[in-house]
Amino acid sequence: MSDSFDVIVVGSGPAGYVCAIRCAQLGLKTAVIERNVASNDQPQLGGTCLNVGCIPSKALLDSSQRYAEAASHLSVHGIGVSGVSLDIAGMMARKEKIVSQLTGGVSGLLKANGITVINGAATLNAGRQVEVSSAGSGNQAYRADHVVLAAGSEPAAIPPAPVDGDRVVDSTGALCFDAVPQRLGVIGAGVIGLELGSVWARLGSEVMMLEAMDQFLPNMDEQIAVESAKIFAKQGLDIRLGARVTNVRVSGDYVEVTYSQGDTTEKARFDRLIVAVGRSPRTAGLFSADSGVTADERGFIFVNDYCATEAPGVWAVGDIVRGPMLAHKGSEEGVMVAERIHGKSAQLNYEVIPSIIYTHPEVAAVGKTEQELKAEGVNYKAGTFPFAAIGRALASGETEGMVKILSDADSDQILGAHVVGPSAADLVQQIVIAIEMAASTEDLQLMVFGHPTMSEAVHEAALAVDGRAVHMVNRTK
Ligand code: NAD
Repeated sequence: MSDSFDVIVVGSGPAGYVCAIRCAQLGLKTAVIERNVASNDQPQLGGTCLNVGCIPSKALLDSSQRYAEAASHLSVHGIGVSGVSLDIAGMMARKEKIVSQLTGGVSGLLKANGITVINGAATLNAGRQVEVSSAGSGNQAYRADHVVLAAGSEPAAIPPAPVDGDRVVDSTGALCFDAVPQRLGVIGAGVIGLELGSVWARLGSEVMMLEAMDQFLPNMDEQIAVESAKIFAKQGLDIRLGARVTNVRVSGDYVEVTYSQGDTTEKARFDRLIVAVGRSPRTAGLFSADSGVTADERGFIFVNDYCATEAPGVWAVGDIVRGPMLAHKGSEEGVMVAERIHGKSAQLNYEVIPSIIYTHPEVAAVGKTEQELKAEGVNYKAGTFPFAAIGRALASGETEGMVKILSDADSDQILGAHVVGPSAADLVQQIVIAIEMAASTEDLQLMVFGHPTMSEAVHEAALAVDGRAVHMVNRTK
């Protein structure tokens, strides 16, 4: 037995490292085990989000958006630009620098909080014994009063499209192309497909997205999904719905994809293909049969509302448990678990987790969709307001999209908000606060919103719920 701790956290992504920091803040002797190794032989901290997910994709989304604006969107502002060129290597180097700055920051924070970082792959055994195997130092065993599993997720695979890391890549490979593919195929028009498809479309790729479902973004509010689809189509994303990929064949310098759409079978050729069909929990080898931890057939670990597994003192947070695979959901679960380990009765409101697609414009949502309220038989009111009627949006040339607010027709309490448009993520965050404070649309109607701001669309949508938006003609229901 090497060492024992109050808490061992397995995984250093946003769920794990945030949990570990909160544990340490609460005075608990804490260790983090991370299996990824950096080029300097140190543990590669930060998980998917910092290394191959949220952060590098946002770096490329921002760089590619700037390129697209410089190349073709500035003349409307009276700005002529010539000789715009693309330095992919420079763009990638910037992305890598941001990643190492942030992962280095996590390392510094863990150190400053007195957290022990152990490198290796962990397996949880009976009695909260954790066995860690690493190439350098062989096997070591540790024990803790509490173990928090936060091993994250990995890109899901589909049999017809095996990833070869060259012509056919997953979301990780799509973050490091060394040239802009002329024709880019994307399997899956979900969050990752849309974000990475947008990056390469802005840099010049012809992008075709093959989506098996007949409906675009089925979990989003339908009105917002329809509006988003129109915007993305205008941007040149060729999104084929009901397109089920049956075969992928790499041949020399192209990849040929066969897909069925209705009764027809189609073929398409691409220079590169991104497989973005979801993510799977990374639970293989994470716990032994006698650990007391159990998982469903897809690998998601069973937990209660507070992320406690069926094994006493063992918790699981983030992408390896039910709920949306979102960094901020995992982080807050990590905090909740740390507080509970310390004896507090913390809980998380799973009904109020914002979700965002970082396209341009962004698509963001919180709470119930209109179709959910209909299905649940809730007596609701809806108000929408278009950015085209917002002065600041016009001034910025960002007039596409709308804000939609849903509230209970009887109590007026806000139940959901859905936005496609400029700063959608930040606007939805305002409604996250409103819902958590049990605000009504009347509360929003009575608040003073700064002018001229994009936030005025939130104010106007709240007014529109009662047919009293000021800067548009209200339709009576
Ligand atoms: P997703 O579930 O959002 O989308 C995958 C899409 O692929 C679905 O629409 C699905 O119908 C389609 N699909 C599945 N099999 C297919 C097939 N054989 N042929 C054609 N289409 C097929 O998953 P994702 O985009 O891979 O993202 C994975 C996870 O990562 C999600 O949970 C997502 O929330 C999370 N994520 C979040 C963000 C963000 O918050 N901005 C960004 C990236 C990823």
